[in-house]
Amino acid sequence: MAGTPEGRAVVVATRSLGADVIEADLRMDDPPALSFRAGQWVSVPLAPKTVRVYSMASTPRSTSVVTLCADVAPAGPGSRWFRGLVPGAEVSFKGPLGGFVVDRADPRRPFFVAEEVGIVPIRSMLLDLHETGFEGDATLVYWARDRDWLIYDDDFLDLARRAPRFSYCPVVGGTVSDAVTRLVPDVNGLVAYVAGGAATINAAREVLMARGLDRKSVKWEKFYG
Ligand SMILES: Cc1cc2nc3c(=O)[nH]c(=O)nc-3n(C[C@H](O)[C@H](O)[C@H](O)COP(=O)(O)OP(=O)(O)OC[C@H]3O[C@@H](n4cnc5c(N)ncnc54)[C@H](O)[C@@H]3O)c2cc1C
Repeated sequence: MAGTPEGRAVVVATRSLGADVIEADLRMDDPPALSFRAGQWVSVPLAPKTVRVYSMASTPRSTSVVTLCADVAPAGPGSRWFRGLVPGAEVSFKGPLGGFVVDRADPRRPFFVAEEVGIVPIRSMLLDLHETGFEGDATLVYWARDRDWLIYDDDFLDLARRAPRFSYCPVVGGTVSDAVTRLVPDVNGLVAYVAGGAATINAAREVLMARGLDRKSVKWEKFYG
């Protein structure tokens, strides 16, 4: 990642969003503002040769305070680091990085699929679309093993009330494959954004391609697997 911008921030708040999900607000220190596109991430060096990356949960509208959100159940170095964040802690990072972003010039209808914490970049994208005046059709299929893992559910219920052409489809239990099969609209004129583990990305892509969507119209962000 030579040439990638580097930054330093200070944790100003942390919140628990569930038994194993933590949100952290980072106030940018150097540089004092982070310009990024919704869907991008920062990389955090934890030790020599140990790096973990986290997507921005907040939107590009806030450049001085940026929110990250992590599932800390995996309990590896990244989870331990995230659990240990307290107000006042310094965070060094590289970024913003990543190309899992919505192209506003693309006339196609976005169809988002998220698996649990995979919702983080998609939350930023959806809130950003709304904040910047997008009024077209958009669908979110959001799968979680149970209700506790449906983080940010309230945000999407609220968005669905404010944006009549946004269709919010939370799904608890069953498989991602079944959920997408049941809920995908006509794939004509659709572009899909899928985030989560590798199995979810593969399952969603298979269903969408079987419906006739071409491979390149399925954009994805693989968190693990
Ligand atoms: C582009 C990108 C963006 C990411 N954004 C986020 C984000 O916003 N929030 C976030 O929590 N994570 C995000 N991740 C994943 C994150 O970088 C770490 O991999 C994650 O926090 C686990 O790190 P760890 O060191 O605790 O566990 P590791 O030691 O890296 O992993 C332990 C095991 O758990 C598996 N695993 C990792 N994450 C999960 C998970 N969520 N569910 C089930 N199994 C898992 C791994 O495959 C591995 O087998 C992102 C990853 C990528 C590549």
